[in-house]
Amino acid sequence: MSRVRTRRRHLNLRFAALCLLLVFALAGAAVWLWANRGLPGEDVEVPDYVQEDFLTVNPWSRPGTPLEKIDGVVIHYVGNPGTTAQANRNYFESLSSGETGTYASSHFVVGLEGEVLQCIPLTEIAYASNIRNEDTVAIEVCHPDETGEFSPVTYQRVVELTAWLCRTFRLDPETDVIRHYDVTEKLCPLYYVEHPEAWDAFRADVAAEMEHQAGDA
Ligand SMILES: [Zn+2]
Repeated sequence: MSRVRTRRRHLNLRFAALCLLLVFALAGAAVWLWANRGLPGEDVEVPDYVQEDFLTVNPWSRPGTPLEKIDGVVIHYVGNPGTTAQANRNYFESLSSGETGTYASSHFVVGLEGEVLQCIPLTEIAYASNIRNEDTVAIEVCHPDETGEFSPVTYQRVVELTAWLCRTFRLDPETDVIRHYDVTEKLCPLYYVEHPEAWDAFRADVAAEMEHQAGDA
């Protein structure tokens, strides 16, 4: 009698353990599905002129954090006249050592010749725009001199890239394309903070370029 009861208790325990395992498995599956649900930047093919040169995943410049939503584009200037897109991309990569304790990066860097390097996939956040890191795409722009004004070829490329982002993620250049200055009042991108009319012209140029790209498509 007592042996039967013991066996039954064992069976009950085994059943309970099985149930617990099932619950864990289901919870795990739910978390996995949640973490891997579609991100807006998933399966997005970047334009031909963009060259992928991703940073290695590291806590300082590419944390690998999913970019859950894309509500805007933030424009920056590198603040280091005459430096190339590659030099700025390599600077972000160098931060990965942690030696300087600096957090910084950008999804894209547009260079002096209009070349574009992509440092971070559109499915991950960059460390560029403070509280807007979690819902924006960042573009760093190289510039020839201290004024921070973009050269014509660079300017045109930034317009093109920003217009493509606006079309891809259904953003309005009037409200969703912002300067780093609009987030933190940092003087970035310097020339377009000091010349608000140049900034208005930039956004108007992006809107016009969107029409142009839509016509091409
Ligand atoms: Zn900035």
